[in-house]
Amino acid sequence: MNKYISKVVKVGPYKLGGKNPVRVQSMCTTDTRDVSSTVKQILALEKAGCEIIRVAVPDMVAAKALGKIKKQIHIPLVADIHLNYELALEAAEQGVDKIRINPGNIGTDENVKKVVAVCKKKKIPIRIGINGGSLEKDILKKYKGKVTAAGMVESAMRHIRILEKHNFKNILISLKASDIERTVEAYRMLAKKVKYPLHIGVTEAGTIFRGTVMSSIGLGTLLYEGIGATLRVSLTADPLEEMKVAWEILKSLKLRKRGVTVTSCPTCGRTQIDLINLAEKVEEAVKFMDKDIHIAVMGCVVNGPGEAREADIGVAGGQGAGAIFRHGQVVKSVKENEILAALLEEIEKL
Ligand code: SF4
Repeated sequence: MNKYISKVVKVGPYKLGGKNPVRVQSMCTTDTRDVSSTVKQILALEKAGCEIIRVAVPDMVAAKALGKIKKQIHIPLVADIHLNYELALEAAEQGVDKIRINPGNIGTDENVKKVVAVCKKKKIPIRIGINGGSLEKDILKKYKGKVTAAGMVESAMRHIRILEKHNFKNILISLKASDIERTVEAYRMLAKKVKYPLHIGVTEAGTIFRGTVMSSIGLGTLLYEGIGATLRVSLTADPLEEMKVAWEILKSLKLRKRGVTVTSCPTCGRTQIDLINLAEKVEEAVKFMDKDIHIAVMGCVVNGPGEAREADIGVAGGQGAGAIFRHGQVVKSVKENEILAALLEEIEKL
């Protein structure tokens, strides 16, 4: 399969697109005007693996708060702006690293010119964000009132052409629909037309369970095809949950590495230890560990030792006991109630 390779755009210290790492991003749920709550949420997200953070900028008070927020965080800050070009000008003055705004929605060409001028001067990229729920009326009419992937791409191209007309090419694009089919189709279509880096996401994906499944399928499909310079998992939940899902998607596709990966078998009639409980405890114990290692928690001697050997550290359960492996070698056998401690001891040694 020919994978999509986009051009590169810089957001803060990160190069997005090309063969650069796919970056994880999220959006604050706090009121941007409340600087301390917003900074607190961003710092927690940074710790959980967020690499780019977006905040809503609904008015001038929020726009003027951006500089104060930026000073207290360590990752690129993105201003999310709708309709009002003056907020974009203020956000740029406040030093944001990227602005999400659709140039076709900010009034006259003069307004676009002003936003483009400040973004060029300050080297701030613009993300054009197409959302299936807010397509232009004439595009909707053309597609018989239906939100289609083709309509979303048409809308994106319209905004892209406006920026290109002003000789502005420091662009990223997103095309989010609330279902996988249209989202994937829209990104595939756009990837054939332009080479700008793509911000991918399935919008309004739902609560943690449904949203995780939707995002994993949708974003996983796109990432597998090389589409996606940065991703946002949208969940109706604390954004910290989005970090877990986003990283697990990237780790599962072997696109990024971060922290400890725990694999475990599904258990079956051969399992003779309380493996589900053990796997959960291991996952909990290593969740903030900053080691790039793989731990296998396996239930029995049929498949267990083989899998456990593939990992850096592993356990294969037996009858009320477990054999601990390190890099393919059995290092010890312990009683069931000692397995967790023995695993953690081996992890510490790595
Ligand atoms: S590793 Fe063993 S216990 Fe786990 S599912 Fe496979 S056969 Fe069953």
